[in-house]
Amino acid sequence: MAMVDTRGRALRDLRVSVTDRCNFRCTYCMPREVFGSDFVFLERQELLTFEEITRVVGAFTRCGVRKVRLTGGEPLLRRGLERLVASLAVLDGVEDLALTTNGSLLAGKAATLRAAGLHRLTVSLDSVDDPVFAAMSDTTVGLARVLDGLTAATRAGFDDIKLNAVVRRGVNDDGILDLARFGREHGYTVRFIEYMDVGTTNGWRMDEVVPAAEIIRRINAELPLEPVEAAYLGEVAQRWRYRDGTGEIGVVASVTQAFCSTCTRARLSAVGELYTCLFASTGTDLRALLRGGIDDDGLVAAIGGRWAVRDDRYSALRASATSQSGEGPRKVEMSYIGG
Ligand code: SAM
Ligand code: SF4
Ligand code: SF4
Repeated sequence: MAMVDTRGRALRDLRVSVTDRCNFRCTYCMPREVFGSDFVFLERQELLTFEEITRVVGAFTRCGVRKVRLTGGEPLLRRGLERLVASLAVLDGVEDLALTTNGSLLAGKAATLRAAGLHRLTVSLDSVDDPVFAAMSDTTVGLARVLDGLTAATRAGFDDIKLNAVVRRGVNDDGILDLARFGREHGYTVRFIEYMDVGTTNGWRMDEVVPAAEIIRRINAELPLEPVEAAYLGEVAQRWRYRDGTGEIGVVASVTQAFCSTCTRARLSAVGELYTCLFASTGTDLRALLRGGIDDDGLVAAIGGRWAVRDDRYSALRASATSQSGEGPRKVEMSYIGG
């Protein structure tokens, strides 16, 4: 059953965070000054179990969800993740099951994930230049490990692999063309993402955002592009293809061209809270309901009831606000809510 919110947006997509931990400290997501050795991460018993996640996702499919993406934190740090993939892949209503990962552990896991029924993979990769990659992800895991992960994913049979690159002016924007060329050469669709003011720890400033239009202009100057029609209403990335037929790229203009009016996406945090916007400050505690013994119909009613009153449109409001410092009410961190 499709459920619509107060702005007529149906619930279609669900992002499921399986952990708040990560082995990277990307400066735009989990800056080391905040997520240092004394940072307190969630305890294991606080996380939803795989059985609980499967029940909740099942309830979401009854509310209209068709696309499910596993994320985090770094989802491949969650032990036995392939068991969760296997149980979600066979749920009625799950037409698309995807995973977003930093790729560091992918070489050892791509084949098992594929065998478990994972449909699609997105690997985050902000630069193909070793020092820039290291500076941006603030990790000792070398770029080569991520590239090995990508090779293993292709070998395991994943096609349509996407690369997510967050672009930050003065940090990695010089490497946009190299990333585009890398994607073209290997058959990966690179999606360039505008740096967003998620959470409250990354010190976001508007002048570090490279607008999607500028990214397209810079690539088009060297590798001519033409626009591609969106595949469906609410597609987040604007798609472009190389005029010589060698593939596609995407840009996610979440800051300069907000797409709240078609946002059909809910998020489930690792502890089972339902968030109806990436920039929300509070979520609805579904774990309490689950552990309190609610039945499936009750769960569907709780999810549907929350979606029905949804009014979120943070990015659209940010775009029209006079202050563009990213300040305002405390927002939940992306590594917690699930990117
Ligand atoms: N650890 C996994 C990864 O990096 O792919 C999954 C979780 S991560 C939070 C999901 C996505 O969010 C990544 O592609 C990352 O680049 C993106 N992201 C994180 N912080 C961001 C920010 N401030 N602006 C834009 N994208 C961001
Ligand atoms: Fe970790 Fe992904 Fe956030 Fe980077 S973007 S710190 S890899 S969760
Ligand atoms: Fe959706 Fe919130 Fe992002 Fe707008 S700001 S597109 S409502 S998640």
